[in-house]
Amino acid sequence: MTALADVGLYPELQKYGAADMSACFSCGTCTAICPLSENDATFPRRMIRYAQVGMKDALLSSKELWSCFHCGECSESCPTDADPGEFMAAARRYAIASYDRTGIARLIYLQPALGTLFAVLLAAFFAVFMYAGRGPQSTESLAIFTFIPAELIHDTGIVVMILVLLAGLAGVARMARAIGRREGVGWRSVFGDRAALARSGRALWSSLGRESLGQVRYRRECASEAQTVAWYRRRWFVHAVTIWGFLGLLFATGLDYGLAILGIKETGTPVPIWYPVRLLGTVAGLMLVYGTTVMIIDRVRAANRSVARSAPADWTLLALLWITGLTGFGLELALYLPEPPAWGYWVFLLHVAIAMELVLLAPFMKLAHAVYRPVALFFVALAREPREGAPETNG
Ligand code: SF4
Ligand code: SF4
Repeated sequence: MTALADVGLYPELQKYGAADMSACFSCGTCTAICPLSENDATFPRRMIRYAQVGMKDALLSSKELWSCFHCGECSESCPTDADPGEFMAAARRYAIASYDRTGIARLIYLQPALGTLFAVLLAAFFAVFMYAGRGPQSTESLAIFTFIPAELIHDTGIVVMILVLLAGLAGVARMARAIGRREGVGWRSVFGDRAALARSGRALWSSLGRESLGQVRYRRECASEAQTVAWYRRRWFVHAVTIWGFLGLLFATGLDYGLAILGIKETGTPVPIWYPVRLLGTVAGLMLVYGTTVMIIDRVRAANRSVARSAPADWTLLALLWITGLTGFGLELALYLPEPPAWGYWVFLLHVAIAMELVLLAPFMKLAHAVYRPVALFFVALAREPREGAPETNG
């Protein structure tokens, strides 16, 4: 790999939230303390070195960048207050903005006022767009899909998903290609033969199943708080509950549409609270609201080193997740009240507008790490798999 020094990298990373990395004198304390450094005596120091000497390509193609859970243990121990944990978080923000070619991620991270205005206007756009296609508000029952037709939500949702897939997959493909080239992993190493497929299957299970959904290493290795913090307030648990809640809501929404397509249940048909899809949505919503509420409280109180500093984009994402969960519950309450309340229609409109915005902005915000991280961890897991022959060149 040709390494060209980018003298603008270091000041650029500071714009994304990195502390004064010139204070780092490579003492290695962060490596000694980091529960993820394992046998790698250079993690996370190597990332800081890349920034110091302007090795932009090396930084962006580092699969290890996404291993870090931002537990903050290295920052607690750094003798010069270079805050390596926050550096890693800033580098990931920088990476998300670099992989995104629309400029939206950069706007959100570097221009907080404009980014917030953009988020508010986008939510307003979705609300006005849905409202323009509204139908009558029944007073006999809370007929939310007569007020905002299911077809309108469905068609708008498909357009949003296509945009998200185009923007998101382009970014992920850029990252995967960069890491793949560096690691000497190409299509043939992943899919070439049965042995390659078996290795890839194990790496996929490790990155997606154990690490991302199961949070195994986060739970076991960033466990300094295990002695002092109740299990339901520990960072890995709150993070996991938020992920599971968000995925559960996406799954319940998809399932509801699936049942409608199969002709089993029309979207919007009243069902008892224990109906499986409704129950799944309720439990998932509870998890999302619990997780995001604890995260907001911890950030407000700067409860630990990992949340000592919050970027405006952190608040925007938490606010969108929290409002989505809370309006979902408000809607559920309205649906089961004996008298249909008129406010239920407006809560529904807000819920749909914010949920659409959340999905549309996902590739440009911290939420994108939900995809970037498993892909990078796939390469980490693949590197541990024994492989015959010399590395191939990625085409
Ligand atoms: S502990 Fe601080 S000074 Fe030491 S290598 Fe890590 S970041 Fe640099
Ligand atoms: S924040 Fe935690 S996981 Fe990340 S580099 Fe520091 S010690 Fe390691």
